[in-house]
Amino acid sequence: MKVFKFGGASVKDAEAVKNVGRVLKACGGEQLLVVVSAMGKTTNALEKLVQSYISRDGETAAHFESIRSFHAGIIRGLLSDSNSSAYNDIDNLFIELECLLELKPQANADLIYDQVVSYGEIISSRIISAYLNESGFRNRWMDARNFIITSNNYRDAAVLWKETEEVTAQVLAPILKKQMVVTQGFIGRSTDNSTTTLGREGSDYSAAIFAWCLQAESVTIWKDVAGVMTADPKRIINAEKIERLSYNEAIELAYYGATVIHPKTIQPLKNRHIPLYVKSFLDPEAAGTTVEETDKAHFEKPIYIFKPNQSLISISSRDFSFIAEENLGSIFLSFAQCRVKLNLMQHSAISFSVCIDTSEEKIKKLRDLLSVNFGFQVNAGCELITIRNYNEQALDSVLEGRSVLLEQKTRKTLQVVVR
Ligand code: ASP
Ligand code: MG
Repeated sequence: MKVFKFGGASVKDAEAVKNVGRVLKACGGEQLLVVVSAMGKTTNALEKLVQSYISRDGETAAHFESIRSFHAGIIRGLLSDSNSSAYNDIDNLFIELECLLELKPQANADLIYDQVVSYGEIISSRIISAYLNESGFRNRWMDARNFIITSNNYRDAAVLWKETEEVTAQVLAPILKKQMVVTQGFIGRSTDNSTTTLGREGSDYSAAIFAWCLQAESVTIWKDVAGVMTADPKRIINAEKIERLSYNEAIELAYYGATVIHPKTIQPLKNRHIPLYVKSFLDPEAAGTTVEETDKAHFEKPIYIFKPNQSLISISSRDFSFIAEENLGSIFLSFAQCRVKLNLMQHSAISFSVCIDTSEEKIKKLRDLLSVNFGFQVNAGCELITIRNYNEQALDSVLEGRSVLLEQKTRKTLQVVVR
């Protein structure tokens, strides 16, 4: 049993969905679970829709309509049978969503977010499943919310592994023995029965969760790049594909912000020794990158990870007292309360600096909380550059003309925050 995951870029329009058929023809096979994301930039569009709905800015209907017509265009380009029940299914899903948006927004914003944004994956998987069925890839559409059971920490729900494994092994595994299944990434269900999401870009993680529960033979993530690269080729001319990576190295790269793999994806695969292939959907037969347990996976050349849209925040004591254990405790509590994730931290006697993804809303909340007791300074417009296996030449090549606000080194990794 294998798991294939197709992300937003691989299903961004009708042509791309047709290409999914080509990939299945070249590399599919029996007993396949296909996990799909929302189409193209739909999740971003749904996020705008939610914001508009909650703030009641009068633009909700326009946002809704543009999402609806985007999908209608794709369906028309895909399904030749105008009587296909998929037309009805998709219509009904949009009616359902529209009804939801007609209610007054009452619940907490994160809960509403998950109920609305999850439609991206539900709709996308319906369309893809119908297209594949029509073109000879017999498959069954299944709702991932029946399998991925989570906490109700909306927008970043935690998987309840035991419950998830039980129902997946009991219900999904026997179905997969008989036919291919198409399901959604990114979404799950809490034990109180509402839809949850696993965090942005979480479809890779879903694929890994399913693979873990099903003890799958492998997971393949189909991307618009040849595999895991040593750098973004737009930034570093000599960027090359990495053939083989160990799980640990892949976890490190994902943690530092390599966007090809979602950071939570590797752990479940590592735990059950399931190899991960990162491959190009444009060249499905080419070998991509293999992530597996191996000691032959030492990669010696520099690997660059660029994280744009960063803010460097410096928190200092007002009375020149040391920033020490008690202060750090309350500072970390504030980060957790504001759901801020730290990409890098550094600490001196009287100040503590962190680099985080820029979010005006979160930074404002943080400032409100922390400036009661601390000085709070923000440097926006930064980039965090991480170089694994760094050397001087590698560092020089990324620093050209930029000013370094902070630098941190270990034996293997160098990180700089630059402007
Ligand atoms: N559609 C979701 C997102 O764009 C999940 C994913 O693509 O992995 O964040
Ligand atoms: Mg995506």
